[in-house]
Amino acid sequence: MSLILEDDMYIIAPSNLKKKILLEQAKNHSLYRLSFASLQEVKEHYFFRVKEEATLFLLEQTDYTLDVIRQLLPVLYSLEDKTYTHPKLKQLQAIKALLEQQNLLEYDGDYKRYLKTKKVVVMGYPLLEPYEKKMLADLKATIIKPQAKYLLTTITHYNTLYEEVVGVAQAIRTLNQQQVAYHQIVLAGVDTSYYYTLQTVFSWFSIPLNLPKKYSIAQTIQGQNFLKELDITALTSDILKQKVQALLQTFSYAKNSPYYATLIADALQHTYLDVPLYQDAITIDSNVCTIADLCRDDQYVFVLGVNQNKIPAIYKDDDFLSDVAKQEVGQLCAAEKNKALKEATKLALQTIPHVFLSYKDTSLQEIFYPASMIEELNLTTIEPTIYPYQFSHTYNQYTLGLLLDQYYKYHEEASDLTKLLPYYNSLYQTYDHTYQKHFVTMPKLVLSYSQLDDYALCPFRYYAKYVLQLEAYQETFAQKIGTIYHQVLASMYQDSFDFDTSYNQAISAFDLTVKEKFLLKRLKNELAFIVEEVKEQEKNTTLTKVYVEKKLSLAGDKYLLKGFIDKILFCEKNGKTYYAFLDYKTGSVTLNFDYLAAGLHMQLPIYLYLIETSGLFNQPVFTGLFYQMLLKNSKNDVEKKQNLKLVGYVTAEEDNLVWLDENYEKSSWIKGLSVTKDGRLSAKSKVLSSEQKEQMKQLVKEKIDDFANAILAGEFAIAPKIVQQKNLSCQYCPFKEICFHDARDNQYLDSIKEEDHA
Ligand code: SF4
Repeated sequence: MSLILEDDMYIIAPSNLKKKILLEQAKNHSLYRLSFASLQEVKEHYFFRVKEEATLFLLEQTDYTLDVIRQLLPVLYSLEDKTYTHPKLKQLQAIKALLEQQNLLEYDGDYKRYLKTKKVVVMGYPLLEPYEKKMLADLKATIIKPQAKYLLTTITHYNTLYEEVVGVAQAIRTLNQQQVAYHQIVLAGVDTSYYYTLQTVFSWFSIPLNLPKKYSIAQTIQGQNFLKELDITALTSDILKQKVQALLQTFSYAKNSPYYATLIADALQHTYLDVPLYQDAITIDSNVCTIADLCRDDQYVFVLGVNQNKIPAIYKDDDFLSDVAKQEVGQLCAAEKNKALKEATKLALQTIPHVFLSYKDTSLQEIFYPASMIEELNLTTIEPTIYPYQFSHTYNQYTLGLLLDQYYKYHEEASDLTKLLPYYNSLYQTYDHTYQKHFVTMPKLVLSYSQLDDYALCPFRYYAKYVLQLEAYQETFAQKIGTIYHQVLASMYQDSFDFDTSYNQAISAFDLTVKEKFLLKRLKNELAFIVEEVKEQEKNTTLTKVYVEKKLSLAGDKYLLKGFIDKILFCEKNGKTYYAFLDYKTGSVTLNFDYLAAGLHMQLPIYLYLIETSGLFNQPVFTGLFYQMLLKNSKNDVEKKQNLKLVGYVTAEEDNLVWLDENYEKSSWIKGLSVTKDGRLSAKSKVLSSEQKEQMKQLVKEKIDDFANAILAGEFAIAPKIVQQKNLSCQYCPFKEICFHDARDNQYLDSIKEEDHA
């Protein structure tokens, strides 16, 4: 390092360089009286410190967002007491004046006097802005100019990012065999696009790696729950609680502001959890590419991805201040920064004692070009020649798989095939996609119809969706329509019901696109028609009381069964409650109880079981269970009314049926319900006798118990159901890509009778 330490030195340097200086001091047993400050700290003393409360003040007094405020505050340092022409600079001057007026800028009057007794030196800042240089000159600071010490001669070319990482892993293992500890090795030039491959390949090669991954509190489930209500009891972890309490204390000044929650949410996004690190592991630090003299003599640096626009990175004219404004205020424009950064990079690389440079042509997503710096430094490109088969069986097996794929698909026989084949051939094409059982710990299993249906369709689908929670929720237009229709139909029984008010309230919950608004116009008229038709239909029933969107639950030993029933019509008479229920459908549905033994199509039977077992009614008397199809294509109003008829099963007991429909002999609102000439229910009518209903409830209970036990036992086989050569499970399943199911997994269910599609 070009710095010669002496007593009373005031070193302006980034924290990583400070750490290195202190380590070297300790190593040399020298004890100088040194003071350190970062460039930002110097600016806060030299110019002013912006108080924490300034951000809140600007949020409340201006239209700037938190992000913009973050970007504009550092620019205030470069403003001088003069007239600027650029409008943004004028605005910034006004903001600075406002903050000053509000006493939100804190000045340190003694700083320059304090520094007079010190020898001030600056190092580690290759991109000093002109106004920063002016400040440092005023402080009589000496900028330490680093010297190139090591000649760079070669760079390795790889075809792909994967090959580059493998090549680096091989080199690291070789170094390690030569007694270089992993903590002496640094990777640079590595952005997040490398992380997955690095983790995979390094684990194959047993190389410990500390990735600089950060997890903010806002990313945790507890953090997200806390942010909903700012309720500290949502945090069960003591560490999280302590960190959040400290934050709340910091922002106590903003407690009564409408921006309080915004500030807290932002702070949680920038407060990170401590990630456990390996002691002896490779680290990633790209600063070594720009800050000269950062590396110790015993360190080995691999600089990956020396590609155009990557090393050095490229600045664009897209900052808060444009290049034009920057020039006026004494800041470097993008082109000047790029030039300075390239020179700084070339220099910094030449201060690393042991450096290995490489670049690649492609990754899975991108094509790359070699960095222009390679030519400017006159580096010789070399190709990797030795392949690392001595380090990792996993790598060898993976490579053999690739080479065999190449051989079988394209008849290309790579030379390494014969090297690897004798050792690993038996493993090729032996991938087993079947689910390997493992137990799931759940404090209490909560089951709904949809969960049970998913389990019945394919246990692995349930596992992926509810245990691994792999499905990303995306609200479709069809779901929005469903929610709007359900909400309006639920409100139609209120005394104060007004269609337009209810409809407007329902759509206000959604951020609808112009196209969606256009489509909804027609659907609104449809819905108004449905509301009127439903009112008309229900004039036929004596079941005049109604529950809408009724939540029911039933606790079993091992699970809690929950149901959400769109509508229950009922009336009480002589201590009994006669009832019927229905579920609205805006999409298609299958009404078929022939596969209940397999747990399929259980929605209405589950609701029946819940109503009769949950204690909702005193002496419940079943009269009907139905679907009502809301959005079937119809040519005219007559067909529309026809399509809105209830589809389902009624009680076989006519004494009870009369409560549901006084005119059941020729029902005008229940599909297929009619009587023969001799007054008996016709064969077309779908009826359930008391006995059949009890059997159905019993079967439902058994299926739920079976499924719950299987879930708790970790049984999640890949087992899609096939009925009449039709796969009921996989067509819309979002987990197709990961389950790798094949015909051997299919479960063929015996067809009992023709399915009846509502
Ligand atoms: S695609 Fe089919 S087999 Fe695979 S998880 Fe989904 S339902 Fe199961």
